[in-house]
Amino acid sequence: MSDAQVRANPPLLEVRDLKMHFPVKEGVFMRTGKYNRAVDGVSLHIGAGETLGLVGESGCGKSTLGRCIARLYQPTAGQVLFEGNDISRLRRKQMMPYRRDIQMIFQDPMESLNSRHTIGYIVEEPLLIQRIGTSAWRKQRVRELLDLVGLPARSVTRYPFEFSGGQRQRIGIARAIALNPKLIICDEPVSALDVSIQSQILNLLVDLQRELNLSYLFIAHDLAVVKHISDRVAIMYLGKVVETATGEELYHSPAHPYTRSLVSAIPVPDPHQQKQRQVLSGDVPSPINPPTGCSFHTRCPRVMEQCREQEPQLIAVSDPEQGVRHRPVSCHLFEADRSAS
Ligand code: SF4
Repeated sequence: MSDAQVRANPPLLEVRDLKMHFPVKEGVFMRTGKYNRAVDGVSLHIGAGETLGLVGESGCGKSTLGRCIARLYQPTAGQVLFEGNDISRLRRKQMMPYRRDIQMIFQDPMESLNSRHTIGYIVEEPLLIQRIGTSAWRKQRVRELLDLVGLPARSVTRYPFEFSGGQRQRIGIARAIALNPKLIICDEPVSALDVSIQSQILNLLVDLQRELNLSYLFIAHDLAVVKHISDRVAIMYLGKVVETATGEELYHSPAHPYTRSLVSAIPVPDPHQQKQRQVLSGDVPSPINPPTGCSFHTRCPRVMEQCREQEPQLIAVSDPEQGVRHRPVSCHLFEADRSAS
């Protein structure tokens, strides 16, 4: 789904200026002096049936953002609008109906599945919590769900440790779709899997999306992984989104210097094709003491004086390749280009 199509239909999910600041306790008396600004003013939207990829290095705040949207965390500030309703301040009981619509798939299926429960119980549990159906109906529903994710019905009596990593992720997916959700937050769902298994799980997610009209927020640290699955991709750095574009725009004409370095790191399958890799120097700064001005200025190969003092805003810039299309990028380079033209 293109940006224009998303704008034409009201988004299923809209996040407005979301912040999640964790207090940092210091000293003998464990006083709060500083805050970890894990998510620091993120705005994004996802349309029905759309996949938004969310990419950034470890520690950039992408998983925290996913957990704020699923309301596993209470955001510090900002709004999470689901079908137009702000769910960011709802209490546990008020969130119950939305728990049916918003589900999560986690990175490590072994940790997210309770090893003492059978697969049958693990997949049935969301239905039990929401008090849906009779016991016989739920048992039948569990068999259907296992079939949908490619596992045999006899799996119901077995335990998570009896399955491989890929099979365990299939169980996690069966559990996530049990309540017929509209949005699934996929938090690095293939990062812990072998490459051959990764593509099987990605294909399964694509098939389920088509069949069940699901929307995904697909979180990954590897741009190559989200390339095939995402309609649009948001790039996150140190708690902020620095660029959003369609997959094609991003891979063929990345705008932000950080996005360019990520795209340059994607391996090319053709050994004869040369690709110049842009390796970033230095480490990601701490979100407890973020740099002044542009948060990327300590590592940016194109840093200017202005970048050290003034924070760039996420503004629509024209695509260098496509001319008229506009997409949001936060970088002074594009502000300079605009004022010069
Ligand atoms: Fe680099 Fe400056 Fe752009 Fe930040 S604003 S990405 S430091 S050029």
